[in-house]
Amino acid sequence: MSKEITSRSEDYSQWYNDLVIKGSLADYSAVRGCMVIKPYGFALWENMRDALDKMFKDTGHVNAYFPLFVPKSLFEAEEKNAEGFAKECAVVTHYRLKSNPDKKGALMVDPEAKLEEELVVRPTSEAIIWNTYKNWIQSYRDLPILINQWANVVRWEMRTRLFLRTAEFLWQEGHTAHSSAQEAVEETVKMLNVYEDFVENWMALPVIKGVKTESERFAGAVDTYCIEALMQDGKALQAGTSHFLGQNFAKAFDVKFSDKENKLDYVWATSWGVSTRLIGALVMAHSDDDGLILPPRIAPMQVVIVPIYKGEDSRAQINAKGQELVNSFKAAGIRVKFDDNDNSRPGWKFAEYEMKGVPVRIAIGVRDLENNVVELARRDTKEKTTVSLDGLTERVSALLTEIQQAIYNKALEYRNSHITKVDTWDQFVETLNGKAGFISAHWDGTAETEEKIKEMTKATIRCIPLDNEQEEGKCVLTGNPSKQRVLFAQAY
Ligand code: AMP
Repeated sequence: MSKEITSRSEDYSQWYNDLVIKGSLADYSAVRGCMVIKPYGFALWENMRDALDKMFKDTGHVNAYFPLFVPKSLFEAEEKNAEGFAKECAVVTHYRLKSNPDKKGALMVDPEAKLEEELVVRPTSEAIIWNTYKNWIQSYRDLPILINQWANVVRWEMRTRLFLRTAEFLWQEGHTAHSSAQEAVEETVKMLNVYEDFVENWMALPVIKGVKTESERFAGAVDTYCIEALMQDGKALQAGTSHFLGQNFAKAFDVKFSDKENKLDYVWATSWGVSTRLIGALVMAHSDDDGLILPPRIAPMQVVIVPIYKGEDSRAQINAKGQELVNSFKAAGIRVKFDDNDNSRPGWKFAEYEMKGVPVRIAIGVRDLENNVVELARRDTKEKTTVSLDGLTERVSALLTEIQQAIYNKALEYRNSHITKVDTWDQFVETLNGKAGFISAHWDGTAETEEKIKEMTKATIRCIPLDNEQEEGKCVLTGNPSKQRVLFAQAY
């Protein structure tokens, strides 16, 4: 089975696709750029969604749902946002099909069913939501509004990749309304920290928190904060964004509130989102040439038990023990599967669960039972040990925690050894060619230089790290003065 996966060194991009398809996460679909998320991939998404959802609720947010369609006139209202997303919008112009008189059995758009106003399929929901908030907000007593929505959005991307960049994707989008700029900025940073917490502690993926430059900013935002992660090929991936929207949307939709002194002011806004792209990040960051490696905290199956029968006599005995283990694991809150499927052999099952990235595999045979032991194999290191059945649940529980930490440590070590400080243009180019990951370099702060560097090297400024130290220096390209280093990388 593992032979079917292209190795990372041979073709990283094909390796990624192989893992997504053969690891049963997703499938291609009849719609260009849109994918089918398969049950295994969706179970992973559900675990991620549930953890995030709890974190949102713990920070005071509630869920709601807004329409998929945005009337074009509303979409246009916030000019920068509209302009930024215009090129990626799918638009509904008609509401009916009819029989095609020229072609039997075929349908055609009914020209008489043209919509009076076109509907934009949401690429993001600020417009429809702020048009609604207008009716909900009159005074400071109505604030803050802390709403999150779990939804699908459509962005007509030209170059798509499974999970990382699809035309339709699943995400959550938080949209909050506040009575002061300070409170809104605090919210923006708070949610960035929630993302950092989730991605690091659940997905075992270290991230760098930062602010985007003006040219990489969300269309319509005053400031875009982000978390950036590093993939195994040295490319960066924007894993999540949190935007301080200032009063831009409140002004576009005329959303005012009266403060305690009865003075009218526009409402302050934030929005923040992470998407199914995170699954792509997970695959690219941790997996190896034999398949997926999933962090236990979000793995759909944390443990799989594979029985190894020798003849009918042993079957009942092994199944009884297997069931006992399943019950004990479940009672300890461990997600476990006992795979007694007769149609495939243990060796095939081993490869299959390796491919799927199940963190712990337990093999159990007759002789093991006689000796009161099982074979324990961890997916991340491939280590195998024979351990006693006594205290097995506690042992596995501790092992899952250990694996979670080991996966994170490995990714952290890799990330930290792939941040290179460079001070000259030659070093910059050389480092990029070596797939060094993040390059920390001085930049003169202009969009022109940023664009030039992008044209010459495909490297973009991923972020200005939040924990940046002020440091006088010279721009790596122009030699003009700079006050701090920024992080460059080629990115997905
Ligand atoms: P944005 O609204 O542009 O700030 O994006 C919010 C989140 O969605 C970010 O974490 C992006 O990485 C992610 N995202 C943006 N475009 C896509 C796409 N085409 N497919 C999957 N995820 C995306």
